Amino acid sequence: MTVLETLLLLALAGTGGAVWWLRGRLAAATARHARELAEQRQQREQELRAQSERTAALFDRMVEGIIVVGPDGRIRISNRAAGALFHFPPPAAGRTVLEATRHHEVAALVARLDREAEVLNHELRLDGVAETRHLQVNALALRAADGARDGAILVFHDLTRLRQLESVRQEFVANVSHELRTPLSLIKSAAETLIDGGKNDPAVTTRFLEIIDKHANRLTLLIDDLLLLARLDSGRVELNLQPVDLRAAAQDALDDAAIIARARDVSLANSVPAGTVVPADPERLRQVLANLIDNAIKYGKEGGRVEIGGRGLGGAGAELTVRDDGPGIPGEAKARIFERFYRVDKARSREQGGTGLGLAIVKNVVQAHGGDVRVESTPGQGTEFFIFLPAKRNLA
Ligand code: ADP
Repeated sequence: MTVLETLLLLALAGTGGAVWWLRGRLAAATARHARELAEQRQQREQELRAQSERTAALFDRMVEGIIVVGPDGRIRISNRAAGALFHFPPPAAGRTVLEATRHHEVAALVARLDREAEVLNHELRLDGVAETRHLQVNALALRAADGARDGAILVFHDLTRLRQLESVRQEFVANVSHELRTPLSLIKSAAETLIDGGKNDPAVTTRFLEIIDKHANRLTLLIDDLLLLARLDSGRVELNLQPVDLRAAAQDALDDAAIIARARDVSLANSVPAGTVVPADPERLRQVLANLIDNAIKYGKEGGRVEIGGRGLGGAGAELTVRDDGPGIPGEAKARIFERFYRVDKARSREQGGTGLGLAIVKNVVQAHGGDVRVESTPGQGTEFFIFLPAKRNLA
């Protein structure tokens, strides 16, 4: 109470005015208090709403699929990832697990939680029309405060990508082993033939030593390609980017291929416009062009023609093309030729000394430059590879 208020109270003392004045003050204080309480409640409600919105958003954005089931076996809540995994539209609440997931194993898992406290690392396979998905489920029985059963929570991790990568890796290891074993067994049997007496005949010796030499070279090529791919995969290949004149680079690569082109009577042409310059690693670009020209000669027409073309793409960079007039690549194979070890004709590729890794290296090197590579081919009319190399502002 202020001094003024005290004086006023003394002045009014003994009159009904004091009571009236005190009542007024009390009413004002009560109203102020009520207002403050309402404001606090409103603020608290806003905070709670924001917090529950944040939790709901987090729950919904989780990569793992989550389904919470009540004690009656019906879904209480589930997130978007769970809906996407089992293709059920929201809201799933109220449906049984079987109705929502249409998967007996998931329903059986929920039933198991009646007897067990948890089921961990359970693997689930969902066979779909387009693909098979692999899920890992961790499920936990829930208990209420009084210890009564209160449903369960199921968390689904999608392992499909991991499984796919595992199978790619296994396939790769199997391919590498096979590719290594073929030349090795040829080297071994040639050496055995020599040891078993073949060395006494000079003609046989020469032939078998040539076989050993050829397959040892093939092994070296294979191992070089594998090591390069491993380095490209792990990003350990540092590009020595510098302005490269594409017409000159194409001519160098064509000159390198002149001997093998002559052996198949293939003519080589360079139609890259002069003055087309992009930043590139000259050695790596040479390797890309060598692979594409080599393929064009090997798989193209005997007595045919291989041409490197190109065009500048303004500020965007430039495109190089390597074209042959050979038998082309069948439609279904076009999508796969950049895969490691994929060959349209395995026997032919091996006979030509191919490792099956050339185009995988081309793709990796071009991508390391920030570019891309694609192929167009019409069976019977030839094949054309397109390499896009971007312009970069900051040259090394
Ligand atoms: P390879 O060592 O077998 O040549 P690549 O990765 O370089 O491996 O090529 C993969 C496959 O793509 C080849 O085995 C071949 O079947 C096909 N191919 C590549 N280039 C051509 C081309 N210019 N014409 C026809 N087929 C081609």
